[in-house]
Amino acid sequence: MTSVGTQFSVSATGRLILIFFAMKKCITHKKMYATQTLAEDALIDARARFHYRGQQGPVAVYKCDECGQYHLTSQGDMNARLSQDIAAGKIDLQKEANHWLDKMKKR
Ligand SMILES: [Zn+2]
Repeated sequence: MTSVGTQFSVSATGRLILIFFAMKKCITHKKMYATQTLAEDALIDARARFHYRGQQGPVAVYKCDECGQYHLTSQGDMNARLSQDIAAGKIDLQKEANHWLDKMKKR
């Protein structure tokens, strides 16, 4: 899948520039997210949707050197937003909601 988009970036001289880019698949074959916020949203959604045990599953997001976009990773320290949501019980709430939503869909 190839799509064309635009992205703001800061040039070496510190000026904000608009880049037109052809979005290609990253060589890591990981799903790409244009911004850190989008990647964090996906990370939190994934944690709420699937049951991960212990150290399994994605815990953080990082900016990729290859494609310049963000990916999820199971390596490293847990993302601050994710750990906040877990501490606040939001992930469990979301899990519960997804569980019942799935049940309703199956009927
Ligand atoms: Zn990449």
